Amino acid sequence: MHDDRTLVEARLKRVLDERIRPAVYPESVPLAVGIWTAPGEPVPVAEGLAAPRTPIAVGDPWGAPWGTSWITVTGTVPEAWAGRTVEALIDLGFDANMPGFQCEGLVYRPDGTPVKGLNPQNQWVRVAAPAAGGEQVLLHVEAASNPVILDYHPFLPTELGDKETAGDRPQYRLARMDLAVFDETVWQLVMDLEVLGELMAELPVDGARRWELLRAVERALDAVDLQDVNGTAAAARSQLEGVLAAPAVPSAHRISAIGHAHIDSAWLWPLRETVRKVARTTANMTALLEDEPDFLYTMSQAQQFAWIKEHRPEVYARVRKAVAEGRFVPAGGMWVESDTNMPSSEAMARQFVHGKRFFLDEFGVENHEAWLPDTFGFTGGLPQIIRNAGSRWLLTQKISWSQVNRFPHHTFLWEGIDGTRIFTHFPPVDTYNCSMKGSEIAHAARNFKDKGVARHSLAPTGWGDGGGGTTREMVAKAARLKDLEGSATVRWEKPAEFFAKAEAEYPDPPVWVGELYLELHRATLTSQARTKQGNRRSENLLREAELWCATATLRTGAEYPYEQLDRIWKTVLLHQFHDILPGSSIAWVHREAEATYAALAAELEGLIGAAQQALAGPAGGGRELVFNAAPHPRSAVPAGGAAVAVVHGAACEAVERPEGGFTLRNGLLEVVVDADGLIASVVEVASGRETVAPGSRANLLQLHPDFPNMWDAWDVDRFYRNTVTDLTGVDSLTAETGTGQASVRVARSFGSSTVVQTLTLRAGEQRVDIDTEVDWHETEKFLKAAFPLDIHTERYAAETQFGHLYRPTHTNTSWDAAKFEACNHRFVHLDEPGWGVALVTVSTYGHDVTRTVRDADGGTTTTVRFSLLRAPRFPDPKTDQGLHRFRHALVPGATIGDAVREGYRIGLPERRVTGSAERVAPLVEADTDALVVSAVKLADDRSGDLVVRVYEAGGGRARGRLTTSFPLAGAVPCDLLERPWDGTRGEVTVEDGTVCLALRPFELVTLRLRTAG
Ligand SMILES: [Zn+2]
Repeated sequence: MHDDRTLVEARLKRVLDERIRPAVYPESVPLAVGIWTAPGEPVPVAEGLAAPRTPIAVGDPWGAPWGTSWITVTGTVPEAWAGRTVEALIDLGFDANMPGFQCEGLVYRPDGTPVKGLNPQNQWVRVAAPAAGGEQVLLHVEAASNPVILDYHPFLPTELGDKETAGDRPQYRLARMDLAVFDETVWQLVMDLEVLGELMAELPVDGARRWELLRAVERALDAVDLQDVNGTAAAARSQLEGVLAAPAVPSAHRISAIGHAHIDSAWLWPLRETVRKVARTTANMTALLEDEPDFLYTMSQAQQFAWIKEHRPEVYARVRKAVAEGRFVPAGGMWVESDTNMPSSEAMARQFVHGKRFFLDEFGVENHEAWLPDTFGFTGGLPQIIRNAGSRWLLTQKISWSQVNRFPHHTFLWEGIDGTRIFTHFPPVDTYNCSMKGSEIAHAARNFKDKGVARHSLAPTGWGDGGGGTTREMVAKAARLKDLEGSATVRWEKPAEFFAKAEAEYPDPPVWVGELYLELHRATLTSQARTKQGNRRSENLLREAELWCATATLRTGAEYPYEQLDRIWKTVLLHQFHDILPGSSIAWVHREAEATYAALAAELEGLIGAAQQALAGPAGGGRELVFNAAPHPRSAVPAGGAAVAVVHGAACEAVERPEGGFTLRNGLLEVVVDADGLIASVVEVASGRETVAPGSRANLLQLHPDFPNMWDAWDVDRFYRNTVTDLTGVDSLTAETGTGQASVRVARSFGSSTVVQTLTLRAGEQRVDIDTEVDWHETEKFLKAAFPLDIHTERYAAETQFGHLYRPTHTNTSWDAAKFEACNHRFVHLDEPGWGVALVTVSTYGHDVTRTVRDADGGTTTTVRFSLLRAPRFPDPKTDQGLHRFRHALVPGATIGDAVREGYRIGLPERRVTGSAERVAPLVEADTDALVVSAVKLADDRSGDLVVRVYEAGGGRARGRLTTSFPLAGAVPCDLLERPWDGTRGEVTVEDGTVCLALRPFELVTLRLRTAG
């Protein structure tokens, strides 16, 4: 037979585009349209409904950036349409390619009840089915003129990302505003032809099925009268029944589809807009659930449920009902889909505490999956946290975005630093915005790496990012793909149903050990430094507030601020969302985040101050008490307690060197700062060991050009290292010897920026403190601080949640080489047997480690560089401009234990309070440094029990005691939600009023301690 395949395929495309799709709405009449533009921020629904409208016509411009317009459409269903299905078509000026990234609307009835959301892929509102004819139509649309930030030419700097700079030029023109007859038969024909045409394109040309589909499509097109599509659509459909009824082959891949909208809690829109995005999408999805009996929808992020509950109670009522029916499925168990690289141990734990508790309290639902489709990499500490939250599965597709290496599995066990294994699935469809296109379904089946031993994968289906959710077209396609020859099969299934099946069919899956590193978006560890500092400051202040408030409650009977701490935690957790903490949102988001963090800091300082004063007693007592919130004692002050300050006797000095620069000494370290203000030498006095590599100088600031190929705020591309400027020019270099400390101050200027650094030695501390103040006015540059160390090692440790993990210092494999920018929490540590160095930081997360071998002596120089600042121009054109302060420290001769201790200490400085008490005993005290207390708080159930979280921090075995300063009635191991839990693997016993613990490497234990009497 002659090969006419391409001819028929081209015919299908043209007839669908030009004749069949337009016939879905064969008749229409225009609606009358009126508009009212709210003067500023969004107004309450009642106000928007009541405001007077002025007429506006199709084609007219509307909508200043970030504005809200209330649009009213009115019309009458023609009498001639009696018996037909009638819909309103409301096109606000949509670009069909940008659902979620453009203007949007929420449709209300005159009484204020929401109907559904409008977006570029969802422009219809059902008016009558069947129509009686003569119905009056009156609908209101709360229309948000959100500007396009990510345009066809992506990543161009724009001032549209903040209402303060966006101007007021209208962004859209009203397009179609009609009442129209909806011809369902034609619409079904479109669905048939799209499914079969898309499947056909994926099938092998030498296979019979492809040709069977081609001939069936041809017969259907022959049956269509192009001048009477509506009259012939049914006949055309009947030509397709046979090929649509052919069942899938037994070995077909099985896709569990779940309706979804991955809504970014803030990104190219501010937080307040996400509240409305969630309401629009949720209104749509509850409506779709009513229309489609097989359909299931899932939504993650407890925060988004809480928003609708607070701001759109009428939508929330629909959600509650659908959740109760088991069809609207809360997914995951976190407050938001957070970043996982940077949140502290406690914050990562609280994401699950608050997320799971919300679902339990609101719906009585406990999920067992962590749902993080879009998060930029996963730490080795996360598996244990997931398990301690009472969950056991993880879903993400993000690792498919890695630039270099293809991950070897889609379904596997992921093992964390402590040995916890989590059953993990990466949907092979490689998107969280599946739209049921044939190409996506075929890609999932082909791409699935576990074929032969497993058969199931999951497909989150619906428009995401900016919202929208699943469409009726996607549901119609899924119905046709349920059991169709040549295709993977598709069923609507809940995440838990998928995981149960996937786990059952794959009893011995492969294992991946350690972090799930995303080989992309590495610069999110650095961009928007103030947001990152606000997060870390809040985490530290929350630790202090919980500790001192709990101590004050148990000691003095002070009220414990349950509600305030709950609210503050939730605010901090929200800002750990995977586009806020990573620094990838518009300027508006980061400007607001900075203000929010400042307000939280003031509030937490107030709580801490009041609790400490209550513990210290009246200020008139005249005694200065030092409070130590760190988990290790310092200067005779116990961990978690307070004591009268002790003045350290040892002397510190700064001596000028004849060749320029200064020498700092404190009896523990001797530090040479040369005439360029760089650290030429750091010798540990006890061992005589030099820290700085020969021929190198430490604390060298280096400036790189930094213009990645894409995703400016997210990415740093490897070639940034090809060009570097060492900042060695000195404006001034001075030294100062003060009480208990000696320091050198160096000022430099470069480009349009200035930097002042102070290097300090303190009495009794084996540590060089480095305070950096940068007035940063560069464009597309990357600022690093380099520490070339005389250390020969193949790997180094970086702190993560509840422990640390190792990464190579070399680039042997493509996997090693891809980790050229990585995350640390408070320290990185390198050692040779018997001697090591730590670099510690308050809030710098990005770093790199490289090695070279010296010609002169054959020794190895291992260089650690902290990533201080970047200056990308998208999506915030002024990212990181202005003043920044950082604190880092170099700790020579450090063990891992020293690194852990100094890491906590640098972020939790001692506080001095004048009172009458001599001492505040810690509520709990560990008798070994390896047992680190990560939280001390009162139980969330307000029982008055004390909750203490402890982990083994060194990577070894820890056996020790927790002593309480109150009579102890019992200690119960709990999960993170503070529920008694038998999953704790360590030994926990109570003997003589103390808790005896034996923990494995990095093991985490939550204890509920009951006080006696
Ligand atoms: Zn996202």
